[in-house]
Amino acid sequence: MQRYDVVVIGSGPGGYVCAIRCAQLGLKTACVEKDKTLGGTCLNVGCIPSKALLESSERYEATRHSLAEHGISVAAVSIDLGKMHERRKKIVAQLTGGVDMLFKKNKITRLSGLGRIAKGTTAGYHQVVVTRDDGSEETVEAASVVIATGSVPSNLRGLTIDNDRIVDSTGALELAEVPKHLVLIGAGVIGLELGSVWSRLGAKVTVLEYLDRILPGVDGEVATEAHKILAKQGLEFILGARVEGAEVKGEDVVVKWRSKDDQTHEVTGDRVLVCVGRRPFSDGLGLDAVGVALDNRGRVQIDGEYQTNVAGIFAIGDVTRGAMLAHKAEDEGMAVAEILAGGHGHVNYDAIPSIVYTHPEVAGVGKTEEELVQAGVPFVKGRFKYAPNGRALALGEPDGFVKMLAHKDTDRILGCHIIGAHAGDLIAEVSVAIEFGASSEDLARSCHAHPTLSEIVREAALDCARRAIHK
Ligand code: NAD
Repeated sequence: MQRYDVVVIGSGPGGYVCAIRCAQLGLKTACVEKDKTLGGTCLNVGCIPSKALLESSERYEATRHSLAEHGISVAAVSIDLGKMHERRKKIVAQLTGGVDMLFKKNKITRLSGLGRIAKGTTAGYHQVVVTRDDGSEETVEAASVVIATGSVPSNLRGLTIDNDRIVDSTGALELAEVPKHLVLIGAGVIGLELGSVWSRLGAKVTVLEYLDRILPGVDGEVATEAHKILAKQGLEFILGARVEGAEVKGEDVVVKWRSKDDQTHEVTGDRVLVCVGRRPFSDGLGLDAVGVALDNRGRVQIDGEYQTNVAGIFAIGDVTRGAMLAHKAEDEGMAVAEILAGGHGHVNYDAIPSIVYTHPEVAGVGKTEEELVQAGVPFVKGRFKYAPNGRALALGEPDGFVKMLAHKDTDRILGCHIIGAHAGDLIAEVSVAIEFGASSEDLARSCHAHPTLSEIVREAALDCARRAIHK
């Protein structure tokens, strides 16, 4: 029986990064993957293909509406959706193939099939059984097992996802034609990103959201601004709407929802996208048999060093607690590899950025204003808009602002929240600043190139001490 130092189950951003780092550190490593290609949700049906479609749809939108003010006219603009999908698939293939190459380069064994953990027979080793598509099995031994099996879309009771009329995030990437009326259930990250794609390509989009706000978890002021801007772009939001079911009637889907005053309502579209969150995925892993404990939300329970209640079995990423983000999983993958190699691994959860790839983008890191108020932490707020920034105007991107939150007494940066063009790139500077324990003054005194959008971040930092220059 093949014996490994580490067997990683799952090859998403958490698993494949963990496997590479383990191999770099000299550990004999294998990675089990049930799907045909490596890369997990992120590379195959999540972050990457959605960003490909976001870019294509944004270019279509910009070509139609934003060129005239530059003095550029285009005779006719049309969409070839097939070609758009081909481009998306090509990008995915390039990246998943890239992970294959990295596995070969780092001498990581790829085990294809569904992984299941079984009781070990050799002292100090666990067994991992890999069931291939044809039903045959291979069993290997591992001193350490890392569970990195990720998450899958959640569904609502009363709804059957057929990935034709009623789709999840995977189905919404594959639509062969632009819906006439797309009804979204959930105004979270997936809803707003994929809703933006199909809205830009011509669909009427209605968003039904249970809460009385969009983007739960995002800083309230930023979410309110996002709501305003997206509504102006044509997305129709119905807040306080609890969806209770949907029924396919020919080419239509009738979605039933209940308002806060307990009235029932219906909205009819030709496609429905269910995006009400994701749940940890540990089906078929055999966790019961080996005694690995889950918490009350079905997540694999881990300690501060990513170890489960069973010695030698670790877990990272979406299948555990915390934000369901690819880069959080990656960082945990690297941390656990360092620990397994006898070193120290650490993730600073206060410095993990999150980004929503709407237009404009929404990005944040650290604490939101609401979290600071609730925790009773005294803070100062610096705020600066995009509109006075020269680069923002030249780009035709005057919408949005940067909000910097720093401790009132120590000036340490506690959070930063941005809505505006390239917010996802701008937030990186603040993540590093938080990681280094920087003050808003540190950031404000650092030279920022002119003309760039990064000057908006600096002005927000200056504004914490009411020293913004262009305000
Ligand atoms: P989400 O948790 O962001 O949003 C789900 C929304 O659905 C919530 O606003 C919730 O109130 C609403 N909802 C739940 N039940 C409802 C009901 N019965 N009727 C109406 N509304 C209802 O979830 P998501 O958008 O599905 O995303 C899933 C996960 O994937 C998230 O953790 C997200 O962070 C991650 N993700 C991240 C990115 C990114 O980083 N850019 C992109 C996509 C997904």
